[in-house]
Amino acid sequence: MDSSIIPFNKPYLSGNETRYIEEAVQSGKISGDGMFTKRCHQFFEQQLGFKKVLLTTSCTDALEMAALLLDIKPGDEVIMPSYTFVSTPNAFVLRGAHIVFADSTAENPNMDPAQVESLITARTRAIVPVHYAGIACDMDPIMEIANNHKLFVVEDAAQAIDSYYKGRALGTIGHLAAFSFHETKNIISGEGGMLAINDERFAARAEIIREKGTNRSSFFRGEVDKYGWVDQGSSFLPSDIIAAFLWAQLENLRDIQAKRVAIWERYYSALEPLVENGVELPRLPNFATNNGHMFYMVCRSLAERTALIESLKSQNINPVFHYLSLHTSPFYAEKHDGRVLPWADHYTDCLIRLPLYYELSTAQQNRITDAILAFYKQAAL
Ligand SMILES: *Cc1c(COP(=O)(O)O)cnc(C)c1O
Repeated sequence: MDSSIIPFNKPYLSGNETRYIEEAVQSGKISGDGMFTKRCHQFFEQQLGFKKVLLTTSCTDALEMAALLLDIKPGDEVIMPSYTFVSTPNAFVLRGAHIVFADSTAENPNMDPAQVESLITARTRAIVPVHYAGIACDMDPIMEIANNHKLFVVEDAAQAIDSYYKGRALGTIGHLAAFSFHETKNIISGEGGMLAINDERFAARAEIIREKGTNRSSFFRGEVDKYGWVDQGSSFLPSDIIAAFLWAQLENLRDIQAKRVAIWERYYSALEPLVENGVELPRLPNFATNNGHMFYMVCRSLAERTALIESLKSQNINPVFHYLSLHTSPFYAEKHDGRVLPWADHYTDCLIRLPLYYELSTAQQNRITDAILAFYKQAAL
């Protein structure tokens, strides 16, 4: 029997990555906003329906750009889920914001919109929903609350490429949105990200902030005859070598997505019998689509999850747990207002992610699901 190691993730190369990098190198221009960056921008704007996008060096950087664009100041409050990656709050904390953490829903780890309204104060400036596992947050109530209170919405769409809410692409709904092309995401460039600008008021300034506070982008379009320092900013644009890699991935977006969704669906049907026993599988609200980013299960207890991870690891299968609630983190516990967030803690303790990558074979997947089913049989559920 095959007992070779099944990693949690394996970055997929679609085939043209090194060829396009070579082309970028040969073109003689490998700094930012070169030929491949332009191709990537066009793809998102023309094929995926984004109004305006800018590639960045990471999703973390795209979130930092969002915080700069919103002019977040010390003391401003930003509402987001506790069950998220540290970059979501860090971008705003760097500008002096106070983070107000909301709980997840019982249905899935996404932020509970019903809680958001009660967390708004006179200092609230923004709401940052995170589309966990690429599954849409309920955006209509979030946008309505934001509009009623004149707040901005930044979607953390790091995991949400090619996923939809009531037919609208995630990342096109909030005022701004941030995507990741880290090697653990669906579409990758090693490190990489993108800011989507859905509110035109931010478009010109986003280009300036991304280019060290200069109007270099309008200079290259011939809109001004010299460029200079016009605002605050930093260097958020990736080298065209990164964009060349990304372009090879985007050309294969449909194939990559189809493959990942098929793997996800195989997991779901093989593991569905466990639902009767109280193990939870991902639940997709009827307004959401599945982009095959992640397959997770929610165990009934921390002890059960720990035992399951150990059992799988002993068979050379590498699942992983995920976030640790940020409201109880060493950095933020004393800044948090003391509210208990039971669902965030539940996912912290009980959620487990299974290996999911393009090259995961059906035989390997059967090995994983057989091992999980055997674990629960022996645990005599
Ligand atoms: C991956 C991820 C990020 C960070 O992305 P980088 O590109 O690595 O900076 C931020 N938020 C969420 C929800 C993520 O999954």
